[in-house]
Amino acid sequence: MQFENDTIAAIATALGEGGIAVIRVSGPQAIEKVDQLYAGKESLQQTPTHTVRYGYMVHPGTEERIDEVLVTVMRAPRTFTREDVVEISCHGGLIPVQATLKALLSVGIRLAEPGEFTKRAFLNGRIDLSQAEAVMDLIRAKTDRAAKVANQQAEGRLSKLIQQLREEIVETLAHLAVNVDYPEYDAEVMTSQFLQERCEYIMNHIDELLQTARQGKILREGIATAIIGRPNVGKSSLMNVLTQENKAIVTDIPGTTRDVLEEYVNVRGIPLKLLDTAGIRETEDLVEQIGVERSRQALERADLVLLVLNQAEELQAEDRRLLEQVKHVTTIVIMNKMDLPGKCSIEEVRSSILEHTPVITTSLKEEKGIHQLEEAISSLFFTGKVAMADSTYVSNARHIHLLEEAQKSIQDVLNGIELGMPLDLVEIDLKNAWQYLGEVIGDAVAEDLIDQIFSQFCLGK
Ligand code: GDP
Ligand code: ZN
Repeated sequence: MQFENDTIAAIATALGEGGIAVIRVSGPQAIEKVDQLYAGKESLQQTPTHTVRYGYMVHPGTEERIDEVLVTVMRAPRTFTREDVVEISCHGGLIPVQATLKALLSVGIRLAEPGEFTKRAFLNGRIDLSQAEAVMDLIRAKTDRAAKVANQQAEGRLSKLIQQLREEIVETLAHLAVNVDYPEYDAEVMTSQFLQERCEYIMNHIDELLQTARQGKILREGIATAIIGRPNVGKSSLMNVLTQENKAIVTDIPGTTRDVLEEYVNVRGIPLKLLDTAGIRETEDLVEQIGVERSRQALERADLVLLVLNQAEELQAEDRRLLEQVKHVTTIVIMNKMDLPGKCSIEEVRSSILEHTPVITTSLKEEKGIHQLEEAISSLFFTGKVAMADSTYVSNARHIHLLEEAQKSIQDVLNGIELGMPLDLVEIDLKNAWQYLGEVIGDAVAEDLIDQIFSQFCLGK
């Protein structure tokens, strides 16, 4: 594989958030190229590593000022990519950032592909595979909380846990090897009970990692949320209230355009992925025609349902049918139009839903009851808040798969012990578990295992 080492640049901060945007430049010519556009007290090429310089970005030909900047110079290898890195903090908002990026491209720097900095960090040995994936999650993370989860993983918590489990397996294998190859060496007798205890310990820890997997998935991808209800109850109004402060970030700078087909809203740090928003935004006639089929489809994919009723009208057959349908999904019932006289029986609504389903009264027109709705969403998913903030999340389908495979192998060992199989036969399953765990962190060379076993256990013979 040929690894390109040209110099790349990209906007490193989310656009439109705060006044400052950072452009990151990485590659062998990073310092020299940025210097061509920099006007300050001294040349960046003279700047010591890991220091910040104040100055201006200027147009290469005309010397005309683009923006007031702070430039951080970081020389290889103590950088994120292990290449020379320059970070330019622009102060003037979107237009100057765009102009600065354009100027950088005009002096021969290439626009980075999504995740390319991370790829370089991985290829240059700066981070392992699970860390690289966590950084990719971080790039895609839609809200602060999701970003925090990705961050914890990037710090290597998952890697560390997996390393520990692998060491546990190596040690067990070492004991096993002694027992099989040197039966007369009775100081370290490997009883099947001892092996069983070890395997159960490893099993439990993989289990814990897997249990957090679903939460990790929710946090990365957003809670799939369906807004349903018959026509005119206030679905579009709810959608507007939820999204008004969460406009999607779209710019015409290549590489920064986001997927706008799904709408994400951030409710107290919990990302909701609103399903079928196009349907809700369609004209009322259309919604009426296809609403039933649509809401059925959305219900199938939903982690959370927001069922809107119009409390200014009596409960109708269609409402009753929807109340029946949502019984198997986590649901919040929203009794809308509280500004109008009530005609709908709350008792009847309550009697048709599960006991702990929250019922919130709102006036979406007057934006009342929104706070209570947010509260309900947040307490539904974060009643175990403290424990969750503390955990290591597995937020990647590949990780989940490998952990499941590792678990199966350990289960095979346990079954083997149960059946009284010779210990050298269960050895292979233990090695498989070690291998699968290694693949999570991109480190699974079989020769390596043999070395480790021998470094672990010195027989002195
Ligand atoms: P949808 O068909 O379920 O998407 O309902 P819309 O959100 O389009 O609302 C239908 C009508 O009800 C619109 O005229 C809204 O202005 C109105 N509406 C929505 N919420 C309220 C509310 O809380 N009070 C009152 N009085 N009218 C509302
Ligand atoms: Zn509507």
